[in-house]
Amino acid sequence: MIYADCAAQRPPYKEAADAAVYAMQSFGNPSGLHSVSSSAARLLFDARRRTAAALGAQPSEIIFTASGTEADNLAVFNAAERLPERKRLLIFAAEHKAVLNSALNAEKYLGCRVEYIPCLPDGTADMCALEKMLGPDAALVSLMHANNETGVIQPVREAARLAHSCGALFHTDAVQTAGHIPVNVKELGCDLLSVSAHKLGGIPGAGALCCRANIKLLPLIAGGGQERGVRAGTEALPAICAMGAAIEKSCAEMERDAEYVSGLRDLLQMLLSENEGVIFPGADAERVPGTLCACFPNQDGERLALMLDRAGICASSGAACTTGEPGASHVLEAMGLPQNVSRGALRFSLCERNTAEEMHIIAERVKELI
Ligand code: PLP
Repeated sequence: MIYADCAAQRPPYKEAADAAVYAMQSFGNPSGLHSVSSSAARLLFDARRRTAAALGAQPSEIIFTASGTEADNLAVFNAAERLPERKRLLIFAAEHKAVLNSALNAEKYLGCRVEYIPCLPDGTADMCALEKMLGPDAALVSLMHANNETGVIQPVREAARLAHSCGALFHTDAVQTAGHIPVNVKELGCDLLSVSAHKLGGIPGAGALCCRANIKLLPLIAGGGQERGVRAGTEALPAICAMGAAIEKSCAEMERDAEYVSGLRDLLQMLLSENEGVIFPGADAERVPGTLCACFPNQDGERLALMLDRAGICASSGAACTTGEPGASHVLEAMGLPQNVSRGALRFSLCERNTAEEMHIIAERVKELI
């Protein structure tokens, strides 16, 4: 079996799995008073310290959540803090649904207003358009660090600067970049930044919102006082410890892995380019090392992904969480691709466990199917 769907879930690092098992065996509720709880609290703090260090933040700025989706919701809903003076949410049109749908909920239930930052044909957000959209009533600008379907890295520093120029908060969804390319909240100028454990070599069940210390967050989940009082509920210690171990490991090996994995990605792109009419959305922009989107005009990407699976290759036709939804990808549509092209999309996402030989096998199978 060839696994080429790391953007959906990266295989966990051994260190992460070991950390999860250790946390499960030592159990204990980190909020208790006795010694078992104290050792759980120490493990929790250690994971917080590791996560913060990897993101260039302070441990106190890390709020653990159950997923990247939850971190995005927490960040976007926080915009309601600034109502009624600031009601506009400026959201990149090609965001993940975790951001797009939380913004729509903020509009529906809280009275915010959503406006979309357009996407340029190369897959990057249109900064000139964003500049024109700014104003004293803008509450939040949200621009993902890299897109999950194309891998295109976004002009986050520039967007943060623009957001701050009108007093808006800036959020970035770094779910597809943390552990893959350098992510430093201070250098990027982010107020809020989301990450997800299973995309960076941890296990599902944990995510984090990195939130600048002076920002008052609105609680999404009310209850006890965990996580600065904004995310109640006993922390999922095994998944959180796995995330701490994974983010540390991925950062330590990032430079070497990025060079190797982007080499594989480029090899696969070169091999696939032999198919007539194939288009690689985002290939003209800077991309994360492992993600390759390939569109085969007049083909059905979902069907291709299923046939590849039968041939022993795991890839996807886009975001895993929208599999089965009717219609073409909103990301490729936002880039201006016609439906007969965007419907034929396959996403290959690689990690350091893949090999050049696997790229040749993938390309051969795709060619046979097309
Ligand atoms: N944001 C991006 C860019 C993603 O790719 C994903 C998942 O694919 C998410 C958010 C959601 O993360 P999670 O699966 O941890 O909820």
